[in-house]
Amino acid sequence: MTERKNLNSGLTFQTLNLPCRFLDKESGLCTVYEERPLVCRIFPFYLEPLTGHATLLPVQCGVNLQIVPLGSLNGWSLRDFETAAKQWLAEIWDEAELHQH
Ligand code: SF4
Repeated sequence: MTERKNLNSGLTFQTLNLPCRFLDKESGLCTVYEERPLVCRIFPFYLEPLTGHATLLPVQCGVNLQIVPLGSLNGWSLRDFETAAKQWLAEIWDEAELHQH
């Protein structure tokens, strides 16, 4: 178990550090990908529910996501990431609007 402090809210909480139950250990793929929750869709951003602030999680996700400094020619730069994140959020927003109709 790990204790973490949220810098936006000031609250301290504990995490269990267990793998997600929907992660297929053999393939490393999400078994509910099409229906995954919002928190997974916006990863590696975290939305603070109390304040609404978005935070970039200080993690790297396997070989699929590597965040590197601006100007780097290798992998994703922060600017690339910002562009992709805006696109993802627009897609999520469009999808949410579709479900309302
Ligand atoms: S995308 Fe979300 S639901 Fe799917 S395996 Fe990862 S953490 Fe679990």
